[in-house]
Amino acid sequence: MHNYIEGEWRSSSATELLPVINPATGEELGRTPMSRGADVDQAVRAAAAAFPAWRRVPVTDRVQYLFRLKPLLEDQFEDLARTITLECGKTLVESRGELRRAIENVEVACGAPTMIQGYNSEDIAVGIDETMIRQPLGVCAIIAPFNFPAMIPFWFLPYAIAAGNTVVVKPSERVPLTMERVFRMLDSLGLPKGVVNLVHGGRETVDALLDHPTVRAVSFVGSSAVARHVYARAAVNGKRVQAQGGAKNPVVLLPDADVSASAEIVADSAFGCAGQRCLAAAVAITVGDAAKPFSEALQEKAQQRVTGNGLDARVQMGPVITPESRTRIETIIDRAIAQGARAVVDGRHPSLPDLPRGNFIRPTILEGLPLSSEIARTEIFGPVLTLHHVDDLDAALALVNSGAYGNQASLFTSSGANARRFRYEAEVGNVGINVGVAAPMAFFPFSGARESFFGDLHGQGRDAFEFYTQTKVVVERWPKAWTRKF
Ligand code: NAD
Repeated sequence: MHNYIEGEWRSSSATELLPVINPATGEELGRTPMSRGADVDQAVRAAAAAFPAWRRVPVTDRVQYLFRLKPLLEDQFEDLARTITLECGKTLVESRGELRRAIENVEVACGAPTMIQGYNSEDIAVGIDETMIRQPLGVCAIIAPFNFPAMIPFWFLPYAIAAGNTVVVKPSERVPLTMERVFRMLDSLGLPKGVVNLVHGGRETVDALLDHPTVRAVSFVGSSAVARHVYARAAVNGKRVQAQGGAKNPVVLLPDADVSASAEIVADSAFGCAGQRCLAAAVAITVGDAAKPFSEALQEKAQQRVTGNGLDARVQMGPVITPESRTRIETIIDRAIAQGARAVVDGRHPSLPDLPRGNFIRPTILEGLPLSSEIARTEIFGPVLTLHHVDDLDAALALVNSGAYGNQASLFTSSGANARRFRYEAEVGNVGINVGVAAPMAFFPFSGARESFFGDLHGQGRDAFEFYTQTKVVVERWPKAWTRKF
């Protein structure tokens, strides 16, 4: 696998190569070079060299590249979806869903001519005008996690380049193939050399980007511990930074919710993408009489879910990303059971004889531990849902707001008043009302609160255009006499 720097595919100077393993079959798909500082420096220099000319390309011309990227993504949609499933494990339906969101971001970024406009006031004093203009920042770094190999880089890349910046993308070392394919498409667009660059690698590669003096801004998505590190290190180095972190999303189920439909939606949220989604439901809080019917309905949905290779059209849930991840998840479940949890659905150590080397765990539901327990507070990032019970919405909201994370919270109800209260009081970035995965469309910001987000401006939509531009204010006076003189 190669880096893409200055418009060409280049070998990395890496001495370490990480095998990319299909999580369903254990088959090796390629090897990721763990690029070093020298590779990052090449990419950043290429991006910096391209910037002065790229920012002078009229925005209406810059977005033409994105208009041409969209049909390429559509033409190769199925191949790309297959690549995502192969390296990441999710089902083809889920891969198609993520790609659709990636393309939606390309479409929204095509609005750059309007979105990067400034504003002005005439005659702030007699004959003096004041104007705010938006200008690109320069070289921007984009660092992605494993669970959405296509979509997450697209929360940033189209906006960054449409606004006149140049970029260096570092995909997750565990799923590098999708971005490699996307960069083959970008290469065919004839973008000026150095506008988009790809550097494969891991921790050392990230730190080299965070420390590089020429990188002006960093967009990061990953776990909270790394997001915090990225935020702090990039900020100390004087960069603009947005860092999205992990999650532990609560859903609250009221007695007036439609049990069957709500349980279906919550199960999809908890077990879709094998629970490896930052918007996955992880803790379900039943209120009052909702406890028994929801526990039963969720158990039924969890047991029905077909687990296997995501390429198989009958399969509804794929594997988790690595054997280590599977072991970590099973160990957390073991500990919870040792502490008194009841596994009402136990997905540990499933038998899938046709896929002996896959990292499979079936849906798991645990009851009987408080929300203060380790399993209910730790981000598991697997198909595990814990059930908890409270007497009223006050107590449920208090629990929603007591967690460390703040990515998403959902409420299931048929009461408008309760829904409004929940929307108003939940201290999270994304709220779902009768919706299990409240993923914002590309023309809304992908928000997040508390440990789920470090920074100010988010990815996608208007926030992205603001993040990727800096404002400049010009105050102008043109007295007639001076105008005549020069
Ligand atoms: P991760 O934090 O392990 O890795 C993310 C990126 O950081 C990768 O590119 C990786 O190479 C790099 N990295 C890893 N360790 C590093 C270190 N110590 N120093 C510098 N860089 C490092 O995350 P992951 O396992 O790939 O992804 C799953 C996590 O991402 C989950 O916590 C999930 O909630 C989160 N996530 C959040 C969102 C969101 O929108 N908030 C979206 C998707 C995923």
